[in-house]
Amino acid sequence: MPHTVTATIDLAALRHNLQQAKRLAPNSRIMAVIKADAYGHGIVAAAKALASADGLAVARLEEALTLRKQGINQRLLLLGSFLDSNSLALCADNNIDVAVHNSAGVDTLLASRSHKQLAVWLKHDSGMHRLGMNALELRSAHQRLSSCSHIGDMGLMTHFSAADDLDPHTTQQQTQSFLQATEGLTGFSCLANSAAIIQHPQTHLDWVRPGIMLYGANPLPPTITKLNNLELQPVMTLRAKIIAIRPIATGESAGYNERWTATRPTQLATLAIGYADGYPRHARNGTPVLINGQRAVLAGRVSMDLITVDISDCHEVNIGDEAILWGQGLPAEEIASYADTISYQLFTSVSKRVPRIYINTESIV
Ligand SMILES: *Cc1c(COP(=O)(O)O)cnc(C)c1O
Repeated sequence: MPHTVTATIDLAALRHNLQQAKRLAPNSRIMAVIKADAYGHGIVAAAKALASADGLAVARLEEALTLRKQGINQRLLLLGSFLDSNSLALCADNNIDVAVHNSAGVDTLLASRSHKQLAVWLKHDSGMHRLGMNALELRSAHQRLSSCSHIGDMGLMTHFSAADDLDPHTTQQQTQSFLQATEGLTGFSCLANSAAIIQHPQTHLDWVRPGIMLYGANPLPPTITKLNNLELQPVMTLRAKIIAIRPIATGESAGYNERWTATRPTQLATLAIGYADGYPRHARNGTPVLINGQRAVLAGRVSMDLITVDISDCHEVNIGDEAILWGQGLPAEEIASYADTISYQLFTSVSKRVPRIYINTESIV
């Protein structure tokens, strides 16, 4: 069936970006973060393409179980989640590591009577104040779990609140806090998200947790990534067909509430994509759209199923042509800035009705 909107997912690009993370953190193991359906890219395909990662992390137990059902044998980590005895039993049965972020979680773990060993990543709150234990709680948790026969491997982790800031102060403080809190404790350490992998090498330690960079989006301004020769490739390219073209006169408006009015005689193209597909409703007039390699701009409010685009400066545009909303040749980060959001939200908002078309699937088994 021909689709009017598609999200092409380039699995070779995903593997390329994983190699970039490995290049930047050569002495660390990689826990590839594929929560939220691999940031909207499709969790099972992403997991298969990331077979050479040392582990895969998700935020919901359902996703970890889906991966096991699909035959994914890699190490899996369940990040911050509600750990009751049922979910812990499912984790133990399915060999899923758990992040434990409070003493209630430790209590539940100690009370569980699994015969299988469970690997535990103890989470320290180094300043984000969302999840994690303070230094005292962490030490107590470590001690209580160390002597417990059904606890296997133990690790120590924390999460940065501002690794994407150009000012390193907060990340340095959080790193210090983590190192102090965990001093002398046995177990591997894991701190860095994508931004820290890129600009804070001192945080790499035993494991790193790249997310957004695997999908080819840069959490930092491009000037920083140039320093590292970082070359990320976009994994998702979102496309939609042009289904109408019309000329409008100066002074005429397009879309709801006349948010945009022509200041010159304008060629206006209507594209079959809208906020119900995940195109951000807050995208401003002037948000770029790529049509046959040329930049056109959004003109008027985003509707549920449609947008209008000023193609006056483009050549050779016809009904039925495909436009790129982000991806190849048009970074999602740029679109995000026009919609006052981040690439993470664009990717995870691409809705169910948009088919994901996987390309470069060769090396996937
Ligand atoms: C989402 C997440 C990551 C990955 O962050 P990116 O900014 O996408 O690299 C790492 N660790 C934790 C705990 C997360 O929730």
